[in-house]
Amino acid sequence: MAIIPIFIPHAGCPHQCVFCNQKTISGQKTAAVEGARKQIKKWLEWVKPSVKNEAAFYGGSFTGLDIALQKELLALTDELRSKKAIGSVRLSTRPDYIDAERLELLRAHGVQLVELGVQSMDDTVLAAAERGHSAKQVVEAVALLKEYGFAVGVQLMVGMPEQSFASVKATVEQVLQLQPDVARIYPLLVIKGTPLAHSYEREEFVPLTLEEAVRQSAYIYKKLRAAGVKIIRVGLQADDELCAEGNILAGPFHPAMGELVQSYLLREELTPQILEAARDGEGVIISCPCRLESKVRGLRNSNIIYWKELVAPRELTIKNAEVSEMKITFIPSNDLEKAATQD
Ligand code: SF4
Repeated sequence: MAIIPIFIPHAGCPHQCVFCNQKTISGQKTAAVEGARKQIKKWLEWVKPSVKNEAAFYGGSFTGLDIALQKELLALTDELRSKKAIGSVRLSTRPDYIDAERLELLRAHGVQLVELGVQSMDDTVLAAAERGHSAKQVVEAVALLKEYGFAVGVQLMVGMPEQSFASVKATVEQVLQLQPDVARIYPLLVIKGTPLAHSYEREEFVPLTLEEAVRQSAYIYKKLRAAGVKIIRVGLQADDELCAEGNILAGPFHPAMGELVQSYLLREELTPQILEAARDGEGVIISCPCRLESKVRGLRNSNIIYWKELVAPRELTIKNAEVSEMKITFIPSNDLEKAATQD
């Protein structure tokens, strides 16, 4: 299955959330149908046609577009569906742009998943970000989407103005009640040219550190995943325009945010087992499947360094092994030299 992304920056959004410069985030300058057509053409050069493929309208708020423009854009994906190049469409929009009329239109054009920019379920935080909608509108939008049979995605943020970790946790509890199908998690960045950039320059806003953003994102990730919600992205797509020199003024940016979050969760999960193994022997061996090794090690071996300090003076080594499951074992006394190590 492939996703054909079609960016429709800012045109559909009369709002200006304090953190958003949608033109920068989406990497596109216009929202014209012609722009969408060009993007589709480019993708079709290498995407193999399949009804399992999906076209995805990103950027801006699709259902806030002029209705004629929505129809023109959906006509492009209708054409793809009729050629069986794709089987369905997904898009993102704002919670306050969901109503029966809009959903009838989307349903008639093969849209199956609607992602909502929720960001927070705390009205104080929503107001501070000048989102222009309330948490109640999110609840209503999700209910209507489900009534019309759409799969629902939620986009959540950490590090927003006026947002504490306690507020993030409360948001997660409310989002779980909504039972979304998929979610994205975005640590807030300070992007050049946004209202937040001015607050940052005036020292009125302090973004999260990378470490704290990972901690809070990991909390959301773990809770939602445990409830069966598929996490489809953590962190903004690191495209050329977002990463252009001077564009990100501050904030917890990392091109592999998702991997950092998964490493953090593995650290949380494995630490009790490592401590237990360390109690029983001269050292600890972590045997892990190759596919997990970089996540187990963490960024620049940060997990290994953390665990080594934790079990010192005992040894801790990692073996990538042909095993499907992670295994933590202890090294019996006087047997250290027998451990096959990589460190
Ligand atoms: S609603 Fe979305 S597209 Fe519009 S300004 Fe806010 S974040 Fe940007």
